[in-house]
Amino acid sequence: MKLFLIETKLPIQPPMPVNYRRTSLDRDTTFYVPKVECFACYDSGIVSNGDNLVNKYIPDYDKDQKGRQNGGQDLAIICHCKAAYGDSQSDDERERVGFRDSLGNIRTTDSIRGEPQALGVSLEKDKIRQIHTDRKACWENTAMVQNLVRNKIAKGEKYETPYYIQVVKEELTKVGDMFSFPSEKAIVKSMSDKQEV
Ligand SMILES: [Zn+2]
Repeated sequence: MKLFLIETKLPIQPPMPVNYRRTSLDRDTTFYVPKVECFACYDSGIVSNGDNLVNKYIPDYDKDQKGRQNGGQDLAIICHCKAAYGDSQSDDERERVGFRDSLGNIRTTDSIRGEPQALGVSLEKDKIRQIHTDRKACWENTAMVQNLVRNKIAKGEKYETPYYIQVVKEELTKVGDMFSFPSEKAIVKSMSDKQEV
């Protein structure tokens, strides 16, 4: 019996250059409002509070004892839109169970103590709808202002920095010490100090 050895070596290819250039369409300077159906939850099923709009209805939501914003401190607020529901259209393998059952009740899960625990809490439908409407209007206004400013920049005209960008810029100047933890300083110091054994 004869054995045939097949040469599997492939010719060495030069490395493929990485194409990091955006197409001109991607470089479009237009500011777009997020393409979502529900601005309350951004189509995630969980109501977002990045802009504190939820605090209009629950003043101390996601706030610590000192009143500082602390996302994730409280239970998630489950939306009323279709993103909160399961997806019965999809096949079994990809079925989305959803945060609410078909009757609108919030589903439960087992807590670490083995007791059923709700996946989140509900806020009245009209309040969620108001959050959606207000947030959408905010985004539309932001897009309008941003596009005016970007247009002026593109034309080399003078423009006034929107106040919220000014606020962020000022906040960023205080970031310097953000990653400087006292305990880390102590570790670094103890490592650089000569230790007697
Ligand atoms: Zn929603």
